[in-house]
Amino acid sequence: MNCPYCGGQEARVIDSRGLDEGVRRRRRCIACGARFTTYERIQPHDIFVIKKDGRREEFSRDKLSLGIRKACEKRPLPTGSVHKLVDAIETGLYEVGRSEVASSYIGDLVMAGLRQLDHIAYIRFASVYRKFADIGVLKQEVDSLAVRRDSPPENQLPLPSSEAVGSISGRKR
Ligand SMILES: [Zn+2]
Repeated sequence: MNCPYCGGQEARVIDSRGLDEGVRRRRRCIACGARFTTYERIQPHDIFVIKKDGRREEFSRDKLSLGIRKACEKRPLPTGSVHKLVDAIETGLYEVGRSEVASSYIGDLVMAGLRQLDHIAYIRFASVYRKFADIGVLKQEVDSLAVRRDSPPENQLPLPSSEAVGSISGRKR
């Protein structure tokens, strides 16, 4: 990616934005400091998701976005944070450069992203995605988050107690 001003070959990405047809990136040339924009087209057929049962499915940004949105429903998140997370995951997938990825890999990326963003959304997503057969595993997750309660992410509401999680599971049964 040559700098259009000095021809320098290294540029730092300072912003990435997913568009329907690709990714728009703002870059800053390391040599001369000039900023410029590049567009990278995404070939929608490039990535296939391998599901747990072995079926292949075309990667869908919409589907990814929907899952994250659902988990973040009614959470007091800064505007655009869901969009940013979807962008980051999608961009990451394309940057890995493989034509096939396991659905669990994407799931883990979402979990990692939500864990940073919002604990409640994280637990919601985890409980659906991992289909916790044993409520004890979910409690472990909650407890492991609670250990880090000293330094919650910004705008973070307190975690639900294990008891609260237990009563949610009780309703389901
Ligand atoms: Zn330059």
